[in-house]
Amino acid sequence: MALHITLATYTFPHQVLVDRSKLEAFGIACTVKDGLTIQVHNFYSNALGGIKLQVHPKDYERAREVLSDHPDISAEYPDAKLKCPRCASGNVDGVGLNGKIALIILMVTGLPIPVFSKKYHCFECHEEFKLPNG
Ligand SMILES: [Zn+2]
Repeated sequence: MALHITLATYTFPHQVLVDRSKLEAFGIACTVKDGLTIQVHNFYSNALGGIKLQVHPKDYERAREVLSDHPDISAEYPDAKLKCPRCASGNVDGVGLNGKIALIILMVTGLPIPVFSKKYHCFECHEEFKLPNG
């Protein structure tokens, strides 16, 4: 039985689907771990460490190349240009109360929750950090 290793980690299901379709277009088999859980419980995504896209070790290097040759995701997700201050990884995403979540809280509770204390989480070294002006 092939043991798969994690190629990349994502916060939201639609992100992993984009990369998965790229890999499959290049004939690289991959599996998505924790995807179903997160589709049902989207807010728990960060607590679970994100959705993992996994490939067979023999495909790992090629899979990295496929994804890095197609960096169009960064245009769609502005946060992708962020770098972790500790390990310089780009594999970071916002946590806490960003605009969309704060809007939902506002609708549910009627309370205007502060939305400007956005933090970021690095999926590589699990550092949490704020932007200098954030
Ligand atoms: Zn890091």
